[in-house]
Amino acid sequence: MSKNVFVIAEQRDGKIMKVSYELIGKARELANDLGQDVVAVLMGSGVEAVAGDLAKAGADKVIVVDDPILAEYVTEPYAKATTAVIKANDPEIVLFGASSIGRDLAPRVSARIHTGLTADCTKLEIDPETKLLNMTRPAFGGNIMATILCADHRPQMATVRPGVMQALESCDKVGTVEKFVVEFTPADMNVEICEVVKTDKKSVDITEAKILVAGGRGLGSAEGFAQLKDLANVLGGEVAASRAAVDSGWIEKDLQVGQTGKTVRPDLYVACGISGAIQHAAGMEESEFIVAINKEESAPIFGICDLGIVGDLNKIVPKLTEALKKV
Ligand code: FAD
Repeated sequence: MSKNVFVIAEQRDGKIMKVSYELIGKARELANDLGQDVVAVLMGSGVEAVAGDLAKAGADKVIVVDDPILAEYVTEPYAKATTAVIKANDPEIVLFGASSIGRDLAPRVSARIHTGLTADCTKLEIDPETKLLNMTRPAFGGNIMATILCADHRPQMATVRPGVMQALESCDKVGTVEKFVVEFTPADMNVEICEVVKTDKKSVDITEAKILVAGGRGLGSAEGFAQLKDLANVLGGEVAASRAAVDSGWIEKDLQVGQTGKTVRPDLYVACGISGAIQHAAGMEESEFIVAINKEESAPIFGICDLGIVGDLNKIVPKLTEALKKV
């Protein structure tokens, strides 16, 4: 019988990615509702040492697949390992991050084990009567929220947007760590990695940032982002943007927050020249503390911020940066 809630954890350079902790937080809730356990699956090369981080974050058990072939993320060996772990353990639910890795891996695994996959979920809950997983995600360009069920196949599988679920604040229990061996053959490595080029600081992952300074159409130009970068540097944060700023070509799409961008939950979100349209708010309203700078008192962003400053950002942002430099 299918049992337990599995989380396919992600690590980069031996560091567990934030989304994995968020998934464990949600998995804990689902597993409690089902009276089952949370199992994290960690894949990589030389990653056993960080399995303990997952075991302390709310996983009852961590299954580690450690093999040199898994040193870098490559679809085929990772899909083979994930499929093997799932087939051997028959989980009730499997969660992946809707990250570039999760989005690549999850559909391949679901096809191999002949089950469905609900992509890009923003809400997951166990139906109290049927005990099925209600998987909710935006559909039709974000105009409706669709709840999808996987009634007949197991496991029930979903990718979950980073930044939406919450990691456990603390956990008293430490889970067990177990090794799982997958027999790889040279044919499993169907690509040759010539060189690994590390991304530079510019292409930071905004879902991991604790402080974000975001700019919108109100900045007026690509150059307008320079002052936001100064403010972000002083605060030790990163720059993000609204879709209007991205569509204007002022900043990379990777930094877009919102329904068709990324969902973020930083400790501090400073929105500069952003109106606060519903599609933008969907990606940032769960931030811990929101500061809005906008010249229009009636801008919707003032309805969701904790601190609002009405005025011209071109005057306020440099002053704020200077003042913070002195702190
Ligand atoms: P605007 O709405 O034009 O607002 C600019 C603001 O800047 C105004 O409030 C203005 O008062 C203020 N301003 C101007 N000059 C200054 C100044 N000097 N000082 C201070 N304030 C100033 N949007 C997203 O952001 N992310 C998404 O993922 C996203 N997905 C979408 C998906 C769909 C299906 C659709 C239909 C839309 C989506 N949008 C998304 C677009 C969204 O509806 C808004 O159009 C967009 O968020 C507006 O961006 P903005 O706030 O930067 O620009």
